[in-house]
Formats: sequence, C-alpha cells, structure tokens
Amino acid sequence: MSGRATAPRGARGASDARVAAGSQGVARFVLLGLVGVGKGTQAKRLSARLGLAHLATGDLLRRHQEEGTELGLLAKGYMERGELLPDDVVIRMVLGELEKEACRPGCIFDGFPRTVEQALALDRAVGPEGVRKVLYLQVPEEVLLRRLSGRLVCRRCQTPYHRESAPPRVEGKCDVCRGELYQRADDRPEVVGRRLQVQQEELVPLLNYYARQGKLLRVNGDLGMEAVEEAILAALGLLAPRG
Ligand SMILES: [Zn+2]
Repeated sequence: MSGRATAPRGARGASDARVAAGSQGVARFVLLGLVGVGKGTQAKRLSARLGLAHLATGDLLRRHQEEGTELGLLAKGYMERGELLPDDVVIRMVLGELEKEACRPGCIFDGFPRTVEQALALDRAVGPEGVRKVLYLQVPEEVLLRRLSGRLVCRRCQTPYHRESAPPRVEGKCDVCRGELYQRADDRPEVVGRRLQVQQEELVPLLNYYARQGKLLRVNGDLGMEAVEEAILAALGLLAPRG
C-alpha cells in the first residue's frame, strides 16, 4: 500500500513513519487521555498510518459479548450490576488479543491499561521494553467540558449530534427521523465535570508509572485531527516536526 496516496495533505514522510515504526521490532504504543480528547480517533488513524493493530478495549468487550465467550459473559454480569470490570477480566481479554497474528507488528492500546495493576500485567506479558512509548493526549478541561456537554442524541433513532461540531439542520430535531433531540443525564455539564475530575485522579498513578519508565510523552490534543496525528508522530520521532 502506498503511504503517499493516502497521506494527509502536507504530511511529510508518511510511509517512512510506518517503516521507522517497524524497524525497531514490535511497536506497541499506549494512548492515554481523558474522555473526549479524541483518543479513539487518533488510535484508529495511527494504526492505519503505522500498520499496527488498534486494540480498543471497548470494541474487544463488545466482540466478546457478541460472540458469547466466557470473558464476554463474565463481563456482562459486572456491567449489568453497574460495576467496573475487574482488572483480571480486562487483562485476560487484552493479553489474549496480543497473541493474534494482527498484533504481530505491534499495536496501539486504546483504553488499556486503565490502572497501574493493568500496566504491570502488560509489562509482565510483553517485557519491560514491550511497550515502546506512552502518549498522553492533553486537552484543557474547559474544552473537554464544552465538547462533552454539547452532545445530543435522538430519542427515537439514537443518532448522535453536537451543538457545536455536528448540529442538526433544525434545532432540536433529528435530521434522520425528525425525532426529538435530548441530552443524556451523563452529558450534563456538572456530571461531565465530575467524571473528568475522577478520571484525572485515576490517571495520575498511571502517568507516574510510565514517566518513571521514561516512556511518557505529552502531546497537545487541542488541535485539529490531522495536526494531533502529526504531533504524535513527531513526538515518537517518526516524523520530522514541521516549520
Ligand atoms: Zn432520529
């Protein structure tokens, strides 16, 4: 596949980034960030750009549940009781994936690890150098608040909208089915603010863990999608910074 044909405008060395990522052995990267920073989007882009698997914990969980695996059923029980999945369930799910062919060149972890316990398990499984770098996408809290509390959903068909970035053609009405748009209780500013605070507190030990290993890279996530991708590649030394 030609990197040049699909490279975003202005990107230099797009195909080189893939070669550079693969030249030092298995390339495993962790993406960290609060909800709303665009972690999933960047993980997807990076996986395509670098030819690595995208390991999104949310997708994995859905797949296990659809396939009715032992782990899927186990997870379902916790979720139905409104409990967080225990570390060992998440760890087994993710580590099981690492053995697959698709993960051989490397992968981008998205949503994992979430705790130091999970990070330790990952290091035990892949070795201390098994995770190459950890990217922390940073976006100011007020920007995240605006992004997250602007979300609206159609009551009838569940199509998502956003007051600023994806407004409906007619205010308060779904473009698809004309249904009424509403804000989920979870998306109210005060709820979002609390969630961000809790997440930030949970993230600190994990950031410290990777900082101590010298793997933590902080990247400005408050840019356009392509600029963030470039910033990540530049931080990884896979792309010359522009300007
Ligand atoms: Zn609708």
